[in-house]
Amino acid sequence: MRRDMIVDWLKTEDPSRLEELWQWADETRRCFVGEEVHLRGLLEISNICARQCHYCGLRAENTRIRRYRMTEEEILACARQAVAFGYGTVVLQGGEDPGIEANWMAGVIRRIKGETPLAVTLSLGERSDDDFALWREAGADRYLLRFETANRNLYEAIHPSSQGRHSDRLAMLRTLKKLGYEIGSGIMIGIPGQSYEDLAGDIEMFCTLDLDMIGVGPFIAHPDTPLGQAAERLNAAAGEQVPNSEAMTYKVMALARLVCPAANIPATTALATLNLERGRELGLVRGGNIVMPNLTPQKYRAMYEIYPAKACIDETADQCRACMAGRIRSIGRTVGVGRGDSPKRTLAA
Ligand code: SAH
Repeated sequence: MRRDMIVDWLKTEDPSRLEELWQWADETRRCFVGEEVHLRGLLEISNICARQCHYCGLRAENTRIRRYRMTEEEILACARQAVAFGYGTVVLQGGEDPGIEANWMAGVIRRIKGETPLAVTLSLGERSDDDFALWREAGADRYLLRFETANRNLYEAIHPSSQGRHSDRLAMLRTLKKLGYEIGSGIMIGIPGQSYEDLAGDIEMFCTLDLDMIGVGPFIAHPDTPLGQAAERLNAAAGEQVPNSEAMTYKVMALARLVCPAANIPATTALATLNLERGRELGLVRGGNIVMPNLTPQKYRAMYEIYPAKACIDETADQCRACMAGRIRSIGRTVGVGRGDSPKRTLAA
């Protein structure tokens, strides 16, 4: 799809044209990845972070949250719960926590892989090539690292490099792919300063990176972050600023499905945060085929506050599972069985 066509879709508000886009994305989803919706149990293993990302509530300078890191035994117990719930994957996500020591993490991965049939996805931020290789050898299957925005200037403005180490997530994604991980990336939609041209460039980047997984969600202002405090002042020129809206999120999901038809695309928690009633379902009929029910123990859940009023923080893991399965069935789809590996790889094999 040409850049100007992508921009045109992103800007359209005509309900009948949008209906056409939703149907096209849904049809493409059905052809390439089928009716199964795979469940990935999301475990937020640490909210400790050494970085200063201007958008994220976990940033090191935010002294208003209590910090935690789960123990190996806690993580293993949650992984066993994922198996009991019938999930095929556990996603271990966290802040960029230097206390997540590479060998310790490798041991945790080895135990999950040895004691359960789960696929293991990591989302632990920017680490060294050696760490990525060690964790891959330990058995990790997938890595999620959003590039957030492909506009270099905007990225550098909201995502300061740490101690002189230049942040190049695109290069890291290529390294991860070479190491044999399935790779996932994505963006935030409606970052202050993000234009329609930028967003179209992001969608093209999904293609260029040849992603197995694409996660997108609206930017949600967090009052204890620089970007949350200055959102309006930083907006792009009138008519050019992308809104951080629900509708825009569906458009990006649908377009992501069209440009990367065989990717796994989740209906994200950030989307559910904008529309608790119907966000997940609408995401699943406008390009999505994955949901990520939260597995994080109740006592930690509210502390993983990357943005405020996050959906599902009051629920138990069991309630999350029942809720997600009900939502999937309500739209006539089926809960996926097995690991739900990248359909792209199966198609290529
Ligand atoms: N430390 C890991 C995981 C971060 S949380 C990493 O940096 O990769 C996962 C994602 O949450 C981020 O990549 C970002 O896209 C999203 N996120 C963070 N703050 C957000 C906010 N205020 N609104 C919406 N999404 C946000």
